[in-house]
Amino acid sequence: MTVLIIIGLVLMSALFSGLTLGLLSLSTSHLQRKISLGDERAKKIYQVRRNGNYLLCTLLLGNVAVNAAISIFLTSIASGVVAMFVATGLIVVFGEIIPQATVYRHALNVGARTVWLVRIFQIILWPVAWPLARGLDWILGKELPTIWSKKEIEQLVEFHEDHPQSAIDEDEERIIKGALQYSDTTAKQVMTQKENVFALEKSVILNDRLLRKIMVKGFTRIPVYKNDIGNIIGILYTKQLIGVDQGTPLKEVFRKRETVKVSEDIKLDALLNKLVKRRTHLAFVYNQKDELVGIATLEDIIEEILKREIVDEYDTPLRKKNVILVL
Ligand code: ATP
Repeated sequence: MTVLIIIGLVLMSALFSGLTLGLLSLSTSHLQRKISLGDERAKKIYQVRRNGNYLLCTLLLGNVAVNAAISIFLTSIASGVVAMFVATGLIVVFGEIIPQATVYRHALNVGARTVWLVRIFQIILWPVAWPLARGLDWILGKELPTIWSKKEIEQLVEFHEDHPQSAIDEDEERIIKGALQYSDTTAKQVMTQKENVFALEKSVILNDRLLRKIMVKGFTRIPVYKNDIGNIIGILYTKQLIGVDQGTPLKEVFRKRETVKVSEDIKLDALLNKLVKRRTHLAFVYNQKDELVGIATLEDIIEEILKREIVDEYDTPLRKKNVILVL
C-alpha cells in the first residue's frame, strides 16, 4: 500500500514540476496571440496563466508538499539514509527531470488537458497560495508583456525562413524585413536626384523632336518648371499629350496644380501616407534651405518595401540609371 502511495506521490510531483516549467514558459502575450488565432488550448490555459504568481505559488507549494510526503512515506519502509537516497533519486529523475523535459516540449497540450486539476489544487491551496501570490504581485508588479524589437522580429523571421518546417518563404522574409525597415529610411535615400530628373521648362513647344524624347524617356509624370528646375510649377502627365497637335505650347497642356513638397528627411512611411492622402504618386523633395533636391515616387517607396527593383514596360537600363536628356 505504501509503495502505491509513493508511486502516486511521485506522479503528482512530476505533474507539479512539469506544469511549473511548462505553463510558466508560456507567456501571457504568447497565449493571447494564440487565442486570437482561435487556439482552444491557449484559451483554457490562459484562465490560470493570467494570474502567474498564483499559479506559480500553487504549483510550487504542491510540488514541495508531495516531495516532502514522498520522503516521509519512504522512511516508513526503509532506513533513514536509504530513504534519503531513494527519495532524492525518485524526485530528481521521475519528479523533476523527465516531466520537465517532456512537458516543456508539449506545454500547450499537457497544460490544456490538466487545467481542471490545477484549478482544484488552486482551490485546495488557496489559503496559502493566494496571499503569497498577492504579496509577490505587490512587490514585483504586473507581469510585463514580451515586446520584441524590430531587429528581434527580423531575426525571428530569418530563423523561420531557414527552418524546413516553417511556412515562411524567401519572398515573405524579404518583404517583412523591408516593411520593418522602410520607416527608418528617408526620402533622400531613395529619391531620384534633381540632376537626373527629366523635367520641362513651361515655355517649351511640343514639337515632333520633343514628343519623341518624351516617348523615349517613358516617364508618366514630367515636372514642369519656370526658368529654373528649382522652381516647379506643375506636372505634365503624358496622358495629356494624347491628341495634342505638334507645335502646341506646353503651357496649354500641362496641369498647373499644387504639388506635394516634402523635406529630404521625411521617413518613407510618412511619405507614403502623404502621397496616398494627396492622391498622387510623385513628391518633390526639398532640403533644409528649401531647395529642390530630387523627386520620390510611390515606386521608389514600394521598391524599398519589396527590396526589389521594379522594372515596368517603359523602364530601360538607361532610364533606371537616370541618364539626363538635355533639351
Ligand atoms: P508609372 O509607373 O506610374 O507609369 P513611371 O514609370 O513614369 O510611372 P515611376 O514608376 O513613378 O515612374 O518611377 C520609376 C522611377 O523613375 C523612380 O525611381 C522615380 O523616381 C523615377 N522617375 C519618375 N518620374 C521621373 C522623371 N520625370 N524624371 C526622372 N526620374 C523619374
